[in-house]
Amino acid sequence: MFRRRPRRRPPLWGRFRRRPPGPPGRPPLPPETQKALAQAHVLMAEGQFVAAAQAFARLSDEVKEEGLPGRAANLALQAARAYLAADSVEAAVQWATTGIGLFVRGGRAGRVNVVLPKITSALRNKGHEAEAVQVEQEAKRLLDELGLSLDELGPRGPQMAETRGTLPAQCTSCGAPLVPHDVEWHDNRTAECPYCGSILKAAS
Ligand SMILES: [Zn+2]
Repeated sequence: MFRRRPRRRPPLWGRFRRRPPGPPGRPPLPPETQKALAQAHVLMAEGQFVAAAQAFARLSDEVKEEGLPGRAANLALQAARAYLAADSVEAAVQWATTGIGLFVRGGRAGRVNVVLPKITSALRNKGHEAEAVQVEQEAKRLLDELGLSLDELGPRGPQMAETRGTLPAQCTSCGAPLVPHDVEWHDNRTAECPYCGSILKAAS
C-alpha cells in the first residue's frame, strides 16, 4: 500500500532563514570616509582648526549624500566647533545651523535641546552674543517649520545617565573624543559613535 511519508524540509531551508540580528546601529562608513574622519579628528586634536573644520565640513556633506542625516549633523557641528576654535565665527554659525537643520529635518529634532545650549554657550564664551542669538533664532525657525518648539522637545539632559557605564575616552574606530552626552545610547552599556556609527561598549 502506498503510504504518504511526511514531507521533508527542503535541504536549503536553513540557508533562507532570517539571519540573526546584527549589532544595533546603522551601516558603517565606507573605508575612505572612515580614514578621512580619523584624520580630521587628529587635525582637531593637533590644533589645526581650519584644516579640521574643512575636513569635517566635507565629511558632513559626504555622509549626508549617503543618507545619514544624524551623522552628517554631528559632523556639521564638529565643523562648527573647529571653525569657532579657528575664530572663523561666520563659518561656525553657518555650520552650526546646518547641523541643527540636519537634525530637525532628519527626524531627530529632540537632539536640538541637547546641542543648542552647547553651541550658544561656546559662542557666548568667546564674546559672540549676537551670533548666539542668531543660532537660537535659526533653530527656532527650523523647528517652527515642523510645528515644533524648544519647549516641546522634552528633557534637556539625557536620561538614565547615572546607571550608564563608562565609555572609552576615544572611539576605537575613528578616534573621536567621546563625550557621554554626545553619543547615542542604545542601552546603559552600549552607545554609538556620533561620527562613524561604531558600536561602543561601556565598562560598568
Ligand atoms: Zn567613531
